[in-house]
Amino acid sequence: MSKRTKKVGIAGRYGNRYGASLRKQMKRLDTTQHAKYLCTFCGKNTVKRVASGIWECRRCHKTIAGGAYVFGTPAAATSRATIRRLRALEEELKPSSS
Ligand SMILES: [Zn+2]
Repeated sequence: MSKRTKKVGIAGRYGNRYGASLRKQMKRLDTTQHAKYLCTFCGKNTVKRVASGIWECRRCHKTIAGGAYVFGTPAAATSRATIRRLRALEEELKPSSS
């Protein structure tokens, strides 16, 4: 049997409605929001989206803040890097602690 929706994938359920670029955009978000992501706490690929920006691991039941449609965003990576950098700087300033 040949594949019915070679190009549009899940967006095919909208038929020819809503415009080509909107359907394309929706397809991208649909795949990222329903995908499972790697849990940083238990290391399993079980993080799923609960609501916009809220992600939960189905295994260890931790709730994690993320992007609205993607678990990891460039902004999250930037803030993580900044926190790490500042923490390293702080350790440098007071080497006696711990
Ligand atoms: Zn987990």
